[in-house]
Amino acid sequence: GLGQLAVFDEPTTDVPSGAARLRAENISAWFGDRKVLDRVSLTMEPGKVTALIGPSGCGKSTFLRILNRMHEMVPSASLAGQVRLDGTDIYDPSQRVTAARRQIGMVFQKANPFPAMSIYENTIAGLKLAGIKADRVEKDFLVEDSLRKASLWEEVKDRLHQPGGGLSGGQQQRLCIARSLAVSPRVLLMDEPCSALDPTSTRRVEETIHSLRGQITIVIVTHNMQQAARVSDECAFFLAAHNQPGGIVEHGDTEAMFGAPRDSRTSDYVNGRF
Ligand code: ADP
Ligand code: MG
Repeated sequence: GLGQLAVFDEPTTDVPSGAARLRAENISAWFGDRKVLDRVSLTMEPGKVTALIGPSGCGKSTFLRILNRMHEMVPSASLAGQVRLDGTDIYDPSQRVTAARRQIGMVFQKANPFPAMSIYENTIAGLKLAGIKADRVEKDFLVEDSLRKASLWEEVKDRLHQPGGGLSGGQQQRLCIARSLAVSPRVLLMDEPCSALDPTSTRRVEETIHSLRGQITIVIVTHNMQQAARVSDECAFFLAAHNQPGGIVEHGDTEAMFGAPRDSRTSDYVNGRF
């Protein structure tokens, strides 16, 4: 298995494994002069699924991108605050971006496999960047294992060497999940992973989330309240008043958030009143 994989590329060799606690502390974010998040703190517990809910534009995607250092790729973007992965500040100058991205994987709303690359090669496309060297046998193992975890194996096992671009949208999204999982991330961030998917693929993705529970810390942005209720252990409700930066109104156990919200704005949102 993965434990036997040899590793090269010095900088990312010593990354720890297993579900990690991810803690955002006082995160504020700007695009140019415009502040879009104001002192957001949230702890995502190891092995749990945390759903981020809230209306469009309140900063959920920005928050998610901050959690794996993608926010800094936008030239006008800046931020304040800390992100701790099991205590290590991923923004500390001694920490490499690649180490953070390897441990904290990301799946986007729009599936983005390499269309001309085979399903097999797509699945292991992240290995090199992560500094993981695998021989043929190890790769074969990793491809099957990752595709199984992403609930895609049965559908593609007979056409692994066909292009990823030939798959349906839902299958492409699961291929992207498999690609993320192949490097054994400790945290998986998912930004509305099902909003472009048909019900069957949505169900498969939810099965994947369920089966990863306990092994990986998952953070999922979703507009689908039923989905948040089905897949998450904890929920954080983001809100931004008109032209104001976003923040968390309420965070807690998913059952409590849906069954007995403390804030009337949470109650209005989860009951579809805005
Ligand atoms: P959500 O995911 O909750 O819909 P976003 O994080 O995408 O919210 O956006 C938060 C705010 O930041 C919005 O007002 C949005 O217009 C703005 N924003 C997002 N990305 C950029 C960007 N690359 N440049 C400038 N403004 C942005
Ligand atoms: Mg978004």
